[in-house]
Amino acid sequence: MEKVWSHKPLLVFGIALSFFYPTVGLGQSDNIFEGLKVTLCGTSSPIPAPGRAQACVAIETPDHLFIVDAGSGSAATAQLANIPQDKLRGILITHYHSDHISDIGDFNLNSWVAGRQAPLLVIGPEGADRVVDGLNMAYELDRGYRVAHHGADLLKPELGVLQSRVIEEGIIIEQDGLRITAFEVSHPPIEPAYGYRLDYGGRSVVISGDSLVTEKIIEISNGADVVLHDAMALQLVRGAESFARGAGNDRVATVLHDIQDYHATTSDLNRLVDEAAIGQLALYHLVPAPRNAMAIAAFTNGVPDGAIITEDGMTFSLPSNSELIIID
Ligand SMILES: [Zn+2]
Ligand SMILES: [Zn+2]
Repeated sequence: MEKVWSHKPLLVFGIALSFFYPTVGLGQSDNIFEGLKVTLCGTSSPIPAPGRAQACVAIETPDHLFIVDAGSGSAATAQLANIPQDKLRGILITHYHSDHISDIGDFNLNSWVAGRQAPLLVIGPEGADRVVDGLNMAYELDRGYRVAHHGADLLKPELGVLQSRVIEEGIIIEQDGLRITAFEVSHPPIEPAYGYRLDYGGRSVVISGDSLVTEKIIEISNGADVVLHDAMALQLVRGAESFARGAGNDRVATVLHDIQDYHATTSDLNRLVDEAAIGQLALYHLVPAPRNAMAIAAFTNGVPDGAIITEDGMTFSLPSNSELIIID
């Protein structure tokens, strides 16, 4: 039996699915918001936390959808948050640690099924071509199965193959009113690792990726409406290190020790808000991501006043040419 999906049964399927699972969408565009809309599709780091995917931020305008990083679990979270993946143009990668790239394949598949009109671009520092070549090879069998099953009319084979673009620091995209700037961050020993600033309609968002608080991040964050910065609660990581050491787990203790010098600590972030004029500081890529209200309280200790500890699915809507920040 030939199985070709048309949009209509897909819609019926979606409506039926939404009846049982009200938050599950088809990943296609519906309501157009005039401005920059930022959705957290992942707020965690390699230390797992229930209900949180690893690093991922979606940024949408009426004409664009870009994702910054694609950590484990983030493609599912993006679908649950109804991100219109037919609009997805590219994934901006900050660096190639696994917690930033492990869901690229799922984003590629989901946006292909949703009706993306061009190959998905993976944009990032040196190495993007190697990662993309490897993923294209790893998913070659899967692409073949999907096309054979659903038909080349629904899933155009050339749209299932990822493309790469290696970038350097500076303005990397300027189109239809959206400007994306890549800037170098400090996440040794990774060089270069980038953060991104996106500007549209007089509004702006800065995403740090993994970084210490640097002069450059302070400069690029100055005047930004929303800054999403990675954050480590040093007191909690040190506590976990000594707990692991005490329990005789030296391997885990060593890893917990090594990570302490390459993420912004919650108290370092005070320097960021003191020296840069920021509309709203919001923390993501939380190390360790808090699992409950008590852990959030412990994490918040020392964090700058007014900073938000983000959760998966949280959105920041920045209407064009206004100063409003709507947080949902
Ligand atoms: Zn990293
Ligand atoms: Zn990371």
